[in-house]
Amino acid sequence: MDLPNTPFPARLLLVDDSPTNLRFLAHVLHNMGEIYFATRGEIALQIARDKHPDLILLDVEMPHMGGYEVCQRLKQDPLLAEAAVIFVTSHQSMEHEIQALEAGAVDYISKPLNPPIVRARVKTHLTLKQQSDKLRQLANRDGLTGVFNRRAFDELLSVEYRRHLRTQIPLGLVMLDVDYFKRYNDFYGHLQGDDCLRQIANTLVMASRRPAESVCRYGGEEFVVLLPHCDRAAVLQYGLWLREQIHQLALPHEASDMGIVTVSIGGSACIPDERTSTTTMIQQSDSALYDAKRQGRDRVCLYPLPE
Ligand SMILES: [Mg+2]
Repeated sequence: MDLPNTPFPARLLLVDDSPTNLRFLAHVLHNMGEIYFATRGEIALQIARDKHPDLILLDVEMPHMGGYEVCQRLKQDPLLAEAAVIFVTSHQSMEHEIQALEAGAVDYISKPLNPPIVRARVKTHLTLKQQSDKLRQLANRDGLTGVFNRRAFDELLSVEYRRHLRTQIPLGLVMLDVDYFKRYNDFYGHLQGDDCLRQIANTLVMASRRPAESVCRYGGEEFVVLLPHCDRAAVLQYGLWLREQIHQLALPHEASDMGIVTVSIGGSACIPDERTSTTTMIQQSDSALYDAKRQGRDRVCLYPLPE
C-alpha cells in the first residue's frame, strides 16, 4: 500500500516491557529520528497505526502479547506491513533467529546490546526502508501527473471496497474524461496536451483532500476519484464542484465549442453487498460518464439515470 512519503527524520518505535531498556535504546538512538515508546504489545500496535513508524525495535519477551505476535499482527495489516521490524532478545539460538525472520522481521539483535552495533543496524534498515518507499512510490504513481496509476487504484479500490462492505457505508466513485482532448492535442500539440492533463490532475488533487480520497489516472485523458463514505447525493455534489473547479482553471480550448477545457463526469455510489463488486462500481460510473458525453459533455451524470 502506498503511504505518504517518509518525511525526514525517520520515525522509530521502541517496544520493550522494561523502561530501563527503553531509556537505554532511546539514548543510543537519540539523533536518528523521531522516537516513540511502548511498554506493551497492544500499545505498540496502536502507536504503529497512528504514527506509521519506519522502523520498530521490538522486544521478544513481553507479558500479555509477545514480540512475535505483535510482528505477525503488523504484517497482516496492509497499512502497517511496510514498517521494518528488528527483534531485540536475550535468546541467542538459531531457532529463535529463524522464528524472528519468519515472523516478518528484517533483523535480529541480541542482548546485551552493543550501542555501535544497534546504531549501525538501525541505520542500514532505515536506508533500505527509504529506498523501498521510493520504489513503491514510483511503482504506484503515474509518471506524467504524479497521481496514482491504474495498478495502485485497483488495489486502493479493493481495500476500500472490503472496508465499506464490513461497515455497510456507501462508497462513491467518480470517473472523469477531458472533453475533446484529441482535438486539443491536434490543435495545441502533445506537450501542451500533457500540461493540460497535469493541470487537471492538480485540480483533482486539490479538490480531494478528505482522508483516503484517491485520485488516479485511469488511462489517456481519463481520471477516477475514489470517495469513501459518500452516498449518491455527496457524489453528485462532489462532481458538480469538480466541474466548477475545472471551469475556473479556464484553460483555452479553441477546438471545443465551449472555448475552454471542460470535463464530463460520471458517478456512482453503493453500499457493497454480495451482488456488487469493484467491477460493478467501475462499470456503473463508466456508464454514467458515457451518458454525460452523450448528453452534450461538460456535465455530471449519476448511475442509474432517472427514467
Ligand atoms: Mg522484555
